[in-house]
Formats: sequence, structure tokens, C-alpha cells
Amino acid sequence: MLSETTPTSSQNLSDRDKAVIWHPFTQMQTAPSPIPIVRGKGSVLYDADGREYLDMISSWWVNLHGHAHPYIAQRVAEQLQVLEHVIFADFTHQPAIELAERLLTILPQNQTKVFYSDNGSTAVEVALKMAFQYWHNLGLPRYKVVALEDAYHGDTFGAMAVGGRSAFTSPFVPFLFDVDYLPTPVPGQEDAVLQKARELFTADVAAFIVEPLVQGSGGMIMYEPSVLNELFQMARQNGTLIIADEVMTGFGRTGKLFASDHIEEKPDLISLSKGLTGGTMALGVTTCTQAIYDAFLSTDKSKTLFHGHSFTANPIACTTALASMDLLLAAETQTAIQRIAANHTEFSQRLATYTTVRNIRQRGTLLAFEINVGEATSYFNTVRDRAYRFMLERGVLMRPLGNVLYMMPPYCTTNEQLQYTYDQVEDFLKSFS
Ligand SMILES: *Cc1c(COP(=O)(O)O)cnc(C)c1O
Repeated sequence: MLSETTPTSSQNLSDRDKAVIWHPFTQMQTAPSPIPIVRGKGSVLYDADGREYLDMISSWWVNLHGHAHPYIAQRVAEQLQVLEHVIFADFTHQPAIELAERLLTILPQNQTKVFYSDNGSTAVEVALKMAFQYWHNLGLPRYKVVALEDAYHGDTFGAMAVGGRSAFTSPFVPFLFDVDYLPTPVPGQEDAVLQKARELFTADVAAFIVEPLVQGSGGMIMYEPSVLNELFQMARQNGTLIIADEVMTGFGRTGKLFASDHIEEKPDLISLSKGLTGGTMALGVTTCTQAIYDAFLSTDKSKTLFHGHSFTANPIACTTALASMDLLLAAETQTAIQRIAANHTEFSQRLATYTTVRNIRQRGTLLAFEINVGEATSYFNTVRDRAYRFMLERGVLMRPLGNVLYMMPPYCTTNEQLQYTYDQVEDFLKSFS
């Protein structure tokens, strides 16, 4: 029964939620009640009590053009009237074909085939399976994988295995396949990492997987295109397949359409999701080179890529991706990306005046920094909860990764909204002095 006075009040919805729902990445015993969101518009979310929140993390990095975008909504509504879903083995449809064609025109030119799945983790799983089976099909099996420390590639088992080992993965370590790790080549560490890479990149490495230029969940750790380029070259010299996990960095976040656009040497496989549909639907994509695709062609059925999901290439999801791409490639969005980046750069200078702020870094629309008040930098740093609550009370949704604060706004975020957020961040910093 719904309550009679305020049938969808925050309290009512929170209570019902608590009774039946288990939330992601959430310690259910100590977590505060979830905030019921009833609507969104642009960069603003509205809760059941009418409170507003500026979504400065693009709802976990997926939203590009703002919430409930009318153009995406219209395209989805049209598609729903025509075809909601169809099996994707032995059948195909226009939205999937058109999306693949258009993705291949904007991705690095060595990418020639598109494989659909549902989310970022599956896009990574598919890339790994393509890489391993590529070597298997060639009759030259390779079993080693090189990844970066602090990497995050998703929460399914293969994706966890190639991620850095952390509190997130510790219960599962006995079940994860071994990976050789390179430290992340952050500024100042490049030579040491390249040194180690010379040892690790041997001719038996099947794949090298990275989040190019920005490690998201690891704490918005950033490194330079030049060193990544060198690592890619080293991997390639040994025939190792390069997997760029652009699930977070894709679709303009780093100031270019893809992080791979910042580097000369191109990956063999690319995983995409999150911003792919502008944050409207779950969809994942793995793209690959012709050479990888060709290694699966055979009259021998055992060389098939035996992988697929019920909702592979869902037409509604593909349509949202097409609509999102229209918006992304529009001149005004490209201008907005540069505008947000410029605002961040200016704010960085303000941030630099605080003695508690360390390690300010930016790549395109992504700005991150650490608050250092004694405790070591870590996901469990207690500054996290304090900052989260402080910003939320002032109507700004940020989700610090430990003491790493970052902003990843939708591209429609206005200068006023950015400035308001910056001001609240400064107020928070002042609370330490
Ligand atoms: C979020 C993320 C994933 C996992 O995507 P999901 O859709 O959450 O499964 C994989 N890789 C990177 C780099 C991510 O940021």
C-alpha cells in the first residue's frame, strides 16, 4: 500500500527500497538511506522531495548529454514502435548495422569489426576471449597477460582477473587467473616502468590491457600519451595484442573522441560502454582489427567465437547510441567539451593555492586531485565520507574515490553549474583550516 499523504515521499521510497534491494558497491549495514530520484533534466537530478543535485559524476560516468535528453527520448520512442528486440545470431537490423558503421568511422582506422554485448565488463571479457582465442586459433597459444597495477576493468571474473588486486577482489583471488603487472607510468615513474616493461614484454604475452591515459576506479590516476605509446610499441614488437579499455575514456572525456586518439600506436582491440549510449541504455562494444577477425574464419567450427548475450545489439540500445553520437559529434558539444576543460584548468589554479590539495591533474573534462590531511591516499580514506556528505548537502553529487576528489560532468553542464561546484569544493577545503 502506498501512503496516502505523500505516496512517493523520499522516506516512503527509501523504506521500501531498504526492505527489498541490495545496492552495488554498498555496505548495506552502514550505508545511509538511498536518495530516491524521480526525474532528471540536463545535469540536474531531482529527488522525491524536490531537492536538486548537480550530477558532477555523470551518474557513474555514463551520462554525456544530460538526463532525459528529449532527442534521445524521441529516437527511443520511435524505435520502440518499430522493433524492440530480435535475436542477433542469423538475424540483424538497421540500428546495429548503422551504429557499427558509424563507430568504425570515428574509431582508430585499424578497427574493422564490431562485436556487441551489454556493458563494460562484458566488453572487456569479449576482448580477452578474442585475444586468447586468436592465439589458440593460430595454433600458437599464449597464456600471459600484462596489465597495470590499480587497473579496473569491471566486476566479472575475467575483468577482475586483469584488474589490480584490491579489497574489491580479495575474496576472489584464488579464482582469478594470474596477470603480470606493470606499475602505472605516472609522471616521474616513466623510466622505471619502461625498464620493467622490457622484462615483462616477452614473446609469450598474449595481450596487454590498459585503461589508456586515465585509470578511473583506481583513483583517476593519469599518465602521459608518450609513455603509453612506448609501451604499446614494446608490446607490438613481440606480437602482443593491445587492448584499450576505453569504457570510461571513450566519447570525448579526455578532450578527444577516444583516449587512443592521443597516441600514435593504435590498439588491436577496443572496449567501449558507459558513454556509448549517452548514458541512456546498457550497451557494450568490442572492436578489433581485421587480423584478429580473420583468425576466427574457418570451415572448422571450433574456431568460432562462442560468445553472446541474450540482449546482444538490442535495437533500442543501438538507437540510443546512434542518437547520442549525433549529439556528441555536433559542433556545440565539441565546443562544450573544450569549454568544460578550460573551466577545469582555471579552477586548477585556484586549487593549487590550498596546502591540503595535492596532485592536481586533468585530462579534458576530467579533473582530479587529492586532499591530504594526514591519512594516506586510499579508497578507505575517511575524507571521502566527509566530502561526499558536504557536497551532497549543498546539492552537488560527487563520489570521491577515497581522498581523491574528481569531477566528470555531462557535457551540457553550464559554466554557472561548474562555478557553483568549484565554490562548494573550495568551501570544503576551507573547512580544514
Ligand atoms: C566501469 C568500467 C568498466 C566496467 O563497466 P560496467 O558497465 O560497469 O561493467 C570496465 N572498464 C572501465 C575502464 C570502467 O571504467
